[in-house]
Amino acid sequence: MHPSITSPRLFVPVPLAQGARTATSTAQAHHLGTVLRGARGDLVRLFNGVDGEWAARITTVRRDRCELEVEERLRGQEPEPDLWLAFAPLKRDATDLVAEKATELGAAALLPVLTERTVATRVNLDRMTSIATGAAEQCERLSVPRITAPMALPALLGSWPPGRVLVAALERQDAPLVRAATGPAALLVGPEGGFTGAELDLLGRHAFVVRASLGCRILRAETAAIVGLALLQASAGG
Ligand code: SAH
Repeated sequence: MHPSITSPRLFVPVPLAQGARTATSTAQAHHLGTVLRGARGDLVRLFNGVDGEWAARITTVRRDRCELEVEERLRGQEPEPDLWLAFAPLKRDATDLVAEKATELGAAALLPVLTERTVATRVNLDRMTSIATGAAEQCERLSVPRITAPMALPALLGSWPPGRVLVAALERQDAPLVRAATGPAALLVGPEGGFTGAELDLLGRHAFVVRASLGCRILRAETAAIVGLALLQASAGG
């Protein structure tokens, strides 16, 4: 029997293969057992970011842990867009929103970047990981975005990987409208207060930085992250 498209989908950070046994996290057990009333014998779908998607059967349900046995592979691992989001952390709700929507929009990595006007300098990486995991489970992607420790903008630029374009979203700068890069890319979005003049100068000194506008209105930072990713993915074909 196959799981249906409404069967719960769970990310598990373990190798997946026929006959493998694994268990959920406490949060997943709560969702599966208490919220969805899953029972022994029910089918779920599992993914781990590497081995594609697998059908698995619930063998034990406890409040804090469900045990699962992996059955058959449903989908092979597929290539995903190589697009990152570098963003200045915002207030808690806005950061949560960005983590969730960026995951749905296929961002491969989320890079919190501390800028001169960043107000929220503390980033709860566990919370961001759990939001991104939940969003990946819901939106049927086969991976959870990688989340990096916060880095100051100059350090991020100084250690930028060769061959990756950084699309800097800049308001009021007469930059050309955002367009997909042809290879690996990242979108950079500033904090509520925008980038400082010194930061704009610094961005201008790096050849991998491409300046981009998201239109003539000034968007809130969280809107800019969502819209920028959507436009980049749409112009790259998905
Ligand atoms: N307080 C600033 C606006 C900052 S908006 C001001 O009033 O000028 C926060 C971030 O969203 C910016 O740093 C930029 O990265 C992005 N952003 C907002 N609107 C944009 C637009 N129209 N084009 C490109 N980027 C935009």
